[in-house]
Amino acid sequence: MKKVLILGSTGSIGINTLNVIRNFPEDFEITALTVNTKIGLLEPQIHEFHPGTVVVKDEKLGMELKARIAGECNVLVGEQGLIDAAANLDYDIFVGAMVGFCGLAPTLEAIKRGKIIALANKETLVVAGELVTKLCRQYNAKLLPIDSEHSAIFQCLEGEKKDQVEKIILTASGGPFLNKTKSSLANVTVQEALNHPNWKMGAKITIDSASMMNKGLEIIEAYWLFGVKQEEIEVVIHPQSIIHSMVQYIDGSVKAQLGLPDMKLPIQYALTYPDRQANQFPRLDFAEIGNLTFFRPDFEKFECLMLAYNALTIGGTAPCIMNAANEIAVHKFLNGEIRFSHIPHIISTAMEKIENHKSPDIDAIFECDKETREFVMALS
Ligand code: MG
Repeated sequence: MKKVLILGSTGSIGINTLNVIRNFPEDFEITALTVNTKIGLLEPQIHEFHPGTVVVKDEKLGMELKARIAGECNVLVGEQGLIDAAANLDYDIFVGAMVGFCGLAPTLEAIKRGKIIALANKETLVVAGELVTKLCRQYNAKLLPIDSEHSAIFQCLEGEKKDQVEKIILTASGGPFLNKTKSSLANVTVQEALNHPNWKMGAKITIDSASMMNKGLEIIEAYWLFGVKQEEIEVVIHPQSIIHSMVQYIDGSVKAQLGLPDMKLPIQYALTYPDRQANQFPRLDFAEIGNLTFFRPDFEKFECLMLAYNALTIGGTAPCIMNAANEIAVHKFLNGEIRFSHIPHIISTAMEKIENHKSPDIDAIFECDKETREFVMALS
């Protein structure tokens, strides 16, 4: 029986993790579930999965839940509650399913205890990749990617020698605006941006997919996860999202991982790794799919993609600045405060104006994140 802590159990990844775990009642038990605010969704999860502890980041809502469930399980609250749960509870697998920078601190606690880290929270590696990978080596923690592209690459690398990798090919659906012109991106609506053709996901990552910042974040995530050089990471547009990514080796051979676009697949692989377990998920029907197509990304139209390559080249806190600026810019777009096409402008302004620090420690990363958020919030 593996004990699982899910950081962010009411988001898209958290819910899918519970959907997977529901199929394997003999193999997994839930130690803890955490949420930001959605106690209404958490409550039925408590009744079904009986975690010993839950954490609600919003303190007021946490107290409200505590009164409501009266002793059914232990309730911790606040940012400190998340950190305490990761640092003190008894679990084997830490599922990092929270969105954004706020997943970093609890993830570091789990790493310091040498846990298995099933990571969907790509921002953790984007802002602190150097530190996170160093700590994983130091404390013998195992990082298993849940992001579908990185799970694909991870699977393609199984049984291979790392020094025989020539390049990693990240596939991208291209999102809802793949066929729009650059100038027309200025006028797209929030609803249009939220309408992803292949994947059902939370709002933040869906907007990131529309701007292709999601792929930018994934380039940086791949860089840290797989220890490849920046020029060894290529992005190819593949609108059907059937090939989840590929690895090309020095003999020219390419391995790909394929599957229906369903996050339950990479989640299950991370939970059952190194084994595979039979399931009843729908299967691919190649004859029905018919065609798989590929083309190069348009870096001029999708400026966020180029910004991510630049942030990786600059290094230091540049990816942290990029990420924080993006999080606030996406928030502003969702609130109707800025146009979609302003997202990359805001990010590049932040990257120009905010001072970069080389090899930042954890305090410098938190400082940089805070400074960038305040800077972008103040932009009119
Ligand atoms: Mg992905």
